[in-house]
Amino acid sequence: MKWMTHQAGALAAALALQADPGLSAGMVLGAVLPDLAEHILSRGNRKIFARIHRGFFHWFGLYFLLLVLIQGLSLPPPSLLLLEGILLGACSHLLLDGLNPTGVPLFPFRRHPRLRLNLVATGSLGEWCFMAGFLLVIGLGGYRLDPAWLRRLGNLF
Ligand SMILES: [Zn+2]
Repeated sequence: MKWMTHQAGALAAALALQADPGLSAGMVLGAVLPDLAEHILSRGNRKIFARIHRGFFHWFGLYFLLLVLIQGLSLPPPSLLLLEGILLGACSHLLLDGLNPTGVPLFPFRRHPRLRLNLVATGSLGEWCFMAGFLLVIGLGGYRLDPAWLRRLGNLF
């Protein structure tokens, strides 16, 4: 899926779950983390990117382990929530990539077996249907104009 679909999906999930503003902002940022990590590692080299894409950085276990590890860092609550949001956003990325024919790896450092449902190809009409659903949730169902929530979101920046 495209980055904007991943970010819309993370925002829709955060709003539908009425997540804290810091967690929500983190989820939107983290929704592109697995692909961004691969882009940075490959340094723009398409061959390297093709070799590592949807590999280790698309493994659920990595983000689960990081979620557990950051609990022991004794970070202040806003920073912890932002980091948790980033890692949960990465997990939402993997959930959506799991709907793709390529899927995501079940184990680290192994390309197979993979978790995949083969429902939505990147850039297909199916992806646009998912995007429309996310926008519907954001626009109608999940978006809150709660002044306290918006004030807390504004305090993050
Ligand atoms: Zn991806």
